Order: sequence, then structure tokens, then C-alpha cells
Amino acid sequence: MKVGVPKEIKTHEYRVGLTPGAVREYVAAGHSVAVETNAGAGIGASDEEYRKAGATLLGSAREVFGSSEMIVKVKEPQPSEWTQLRENQILFTYLHLAPDPEQANGLLKSGCTAIAYETVTDANGGLPLLAPMSEVAGRLSIEAASAALKRYAGGRGLLVGGVPGVQPARIVVIGGGVVGTHAARMAVGLGAEVTMLDRSIARLRQLDELFDGRVRTRFSTIEAVEEEVFAADVVVGAVLIPGASAPRLVSRKMLSAMRKGAVIVDVAIDQGGCFETSRPTTHAEPTYEIDGVIHYCVANMPGAVPLTSSHALNNATLPFGLALANKGFAAVLENHHLRAGLNVYGGRLTYKAVAESLGLPY
Ligand code: NAD
Repeated sequence: MKVGVPKEIKTHEYRVGLTPGAVREYVAAGHSVAVETNAGAGIGASDEEYRKAGATLLGSAREVFGSSEMIVKVKEPQPSEWTQLRENQILFTYLHLAPDPEQANGLLKSGCTAIAYETVTDANGGLPLLAPMSEVAGRLSIEAASAALKRYAGGRGLLVGGVPGVQPARIVVIGGGVVGTHAARMAVGLGAEVTMLDRSIARLRQLDELFDGRVRTRFSTIEAVEEEVFAADVVVGAVLIPGASAPRLVSRKMLSAMRKGAVIVDVAIDQGGCFETSRPTTHAEPTYEIDGVIHYCVANMPGAVPLTSSHALNNATLPFGLALANKGFAAVLENHHLRAGLNVYGGRLTYKAVAESLGLPY
């Protein structure tokens, strides 16, 4: 199959759909890969590296879209990209269509076959192409908290791990899924005192075993959240209720009773956030302060580390992308996990929840 990788054009997006290593895999499997010049610049991958991996370099996105049967990207296509997609061309990327009627209409009009990373499933009922970004965001959350805790950044002036004879930071992680677990791993590694809250007892049992007593676990009730948040130096919001907005677990009133200079990192901000006072921020200006509490609410945290994020994403997308390249649309019909990723086909929406949120036929 002819596979194409345009340069990402969304503002501040530095990741790339295929790394040179992934291109080698496609080429080794007998496919041809066209990459737009400079597509890998954001992760330091030169055109020469792509050439060595077996790709053909093309000077414009138009040529890449025009010559490829499948387009592999990272972010949802932008308006100038919808218009270049054509009937039966496969688009494999993050789409997040539910809140985006304009993009949905653009894709429907194009007649393309769009498979969304975020709805591809795995045998454990997980979302394998979303998980790597949650791993990155979870680990980054503690780096962000550690930076914000510094006195010059407005924080309490605490070293996360303390030193012998001095208390470490108390870090509370609300939500013990992928983000929460990776946040806890980093926090434990730095020597913090870590508490994790979750609404699932089964998950709390797993976490208890996983961390072998190194983190405290608590069932997440209003009372537990309140008690933990009041005593915390850092609170990480890592809750997800699939298909719904994040529940607002920490109210403005609770916030005002928190320690001055404490830090909240609301990773769940991309689903609305779990603190009443959260609003999305950017890497350019990641934090703001309310009631003496520093808020970090960057909606695309993995974008800060495009090199790590591109490799993590490529590791996860590779088997699915190769299946699509090897078999074309038949791969979607054969593999129900890829089928779960199908959002648009033949000018129709094929993912029920997306169609329902957009009020369009399914
Ligand atoms: P996940 O499904 O793996 O984990 C969510 C956890 O929240 C589950 O264990 C669930 O039991 C728990 N939960 C649900 N309700 C709860 C409650 N009331 N109290 C405590 N726990 C509760 O999800 P994830 O992959 O860890 O993602 C978490 C959030 O992070 C999502 O909103 C996701 O979109 C977001 N995210 C943001 C970024 C970013 O850049 N900001 C990046 C990746 C993920």
C-alpha cells in the first residue's frame, strides 16, 4: 500500500505520525511510504533519516495526500487537510470528533475511511492507542508539580522527596487508572508520601499489590477527597468516566481550605477537569493561582515531550497501521478492535456515541 505522512500543522504540535523506525517496518513489509519534508523536525528526525529508512520525501502535503492510499497522522485533520482527503482513502489518526461538528462534516464530505486512534480497543477492554499518552501525561504530572512547588514559582518551597530528617511532599492522586498509576510511580520514585483514591475497589486492590505498600489507597468519597486534599502539597486529578465529562470532585470551597502554595495538576482537564477552578492552560503559560493554590491545567501535556510521545504512540499504532496497510479495509472487517476505531465510512458516521453527540445519523 502507498502510505503517506504529512507534517502536522496544528499549532504547537511537534509529534509525527510515523517515526523513521516505524517507516522501516512499513517498508520491510513491502509498502511504500511518502513523507512530507520536515515532517520529523519536531522530534529531531531529519529528512535524511527518513530517506535512509526507505521513505520518499515529498515537498508538500498536497503531494502526500494526493499520492497515498492511507494517511497516518497524529492530530485530527485541520480544515486545509479535510479538503485533500478523498473517497476510500484511509485516515489513521486521533480524531476526537464528538465535540467537533465542522471536522465531522469535512470528513463525511470527503468520503474517506477514518479510523480514530482514541476508539480502537484491545482484548482487555482498554484503549491501547490512548494509553501511551496517558502514561506520558501521568509521569509528566509529577515533573510539573515539582516545578510548581518551587518558591520562585509560587509554590510552598518544598522538595518533593524531602531530605533525611525532613518530611517529603504529600502527593494525592485522584483516579488510579493509567495516568494515576504513572503519576504515582514517579512520585514514589522521588520519595514523596503518596495516597491514591479511586472509586473502584478492584483497582485499589491492584494498586495496593502493585506498589507493595509504598502508596496508601483510599476509596474515593466526598469525605475522603476532602480530608486528603486539605492535607496535600500536591493533588493530581486523573479521573475518567468514559464518554462523560470529568466529575467535579474538588469544589472552590474545598480549594480555599487547602495549604497556601500547594499545587494541583488537573490532567483530566481535557475532559473538563475535576477541580471546580480548573481552566485549560498551554505550555506557554501552564499555571495560574487561585486562593494561593497553583493550578497546572495543560490540555495537551504529551506535546511537551514530542520525542518520547511520538515513539510511545508509534509503538502502539504500528501493529494496527501495518494490518491496515497489509489488508486495506478488510483489516477493519476482520479485526473488531480496529472496527471499534472506525468513525467515518462512505460519507456516514459509524461510531454510535460520536453520531449521538453530534446529532447526526449513524
Ligand atoms: P483511566 O480510565 O485509565 O483511569 C481513570 C480512573 O478514574 C479509573 O481507575 C476510574 O475508576 C477512576 N475514577 C472514576 N471516577 C472516580 C472518582 N469519582 N474518584 C476517583 N477515581 C475515579 O483513564 P486515564 O487514561 O488514566 O485518563 C485520566 C484522564 O486524563 C482522562 O480525562 C484523560 O482524558 C486525561 N488525559 C489528559 C492528558 C492531558 O494532556 N491533559 C493526557 C492523557 C490523558
